[in-house]
Amino acid sequence: MENVLNPIFLFIFGSCIGSFLNVYRFRYPKSISIVYPRSFCPKCKKKIPWFLNIPIISWLFLKGKCKFCKSNISFQYPFIEFITAMLITSNIFAISHFSPNHFVNLIGLTFFSSLLIAASLIDLDNLVIPNNLLLFGSISGFIFNLVTRKIYFGDNFLTIIYKYILLSIIFLILFEVFNFILSMIIKKEAFGFGDSKYLFMISTWLGIEGALITFILSIYIGGIISILLILLRLIPRKGKIPFGPYLSLSAYVIGMIGTEKVFLIIRDFYMIR
Ligand SMILES: [Zn+2]
Repeated sequence: MENVLNPIFLFIFGSCIGSFLNVYRFRYPKSISIVYPRSFCPKCKKKIPWFLNIPIISWLFLKGKCKFCKSNISFQYPFIEFITAMLITSNIFAISHFSPNHFVNLIGLTFFSSLLIAASLIDLDNLVIPNNLLLFGSISGFIFNLVTRKIYFGDNFLTIIYKYILLSIIFLILFEVFNFILSMIIKKEAFGFGDSKYLFMISTWLGIEGALITFILSIYIGGIISILLILLRLIPRKGKIPFGPYLSLSAYVIGMIGTEKVFLIIRDFYMIR
């Protein structure tokens, strides 16, 4: 058990997840299965042997070029592997949000973080979060809470269904109503339905309070990052900005330090007593 909590092990494990997320990101728009065929060079289609497919290291070793056709391999591949590894390693410092057992908490957070990164990558590329990813994420969130709430908090089955499914559905409906009104006021679509469904998935993991605080925090994070990107002229003022990555970042923070802590920070910011 102690080995698993070792940061080096977690970093290696996280980089492997990052490598898998790269495959998912690359194959999703092309509708290629994520399990078959094995990794191949997008240019020359040659299969990549395992020893040239080691996260981060292989890219550095090959100096960012395919061994066979010498075409450039995007820097984004090792970058995503590195970021995923860093985020998953950082989970070791998380406050036990899902379970008082640090190891179980870490399993939940690793899974949750991977879902958040996957959703962000696909949303950034395609301005959409796939329904099957959301469904998979929601079911796994509910199952994870079903087990941990029962074992560590003694909640009964109906309470867990109420907290993580029924309240999540209510949250989805209320968010859509809010979105509808806001869209009427600003006379354009405020949030896509994908964002509502994504918040539903987040709610199956973090509960309704967690999803609500995720949304509030994402407005701040989104606002700051969008202004920076516009000032740096990285995105046009009227360009469509995917909101999923901001929700992911907020949900990650809340998974790490807990809903209550983030709520207190926001409250103190406004000095509401
Ligand atoms: Zn090649």
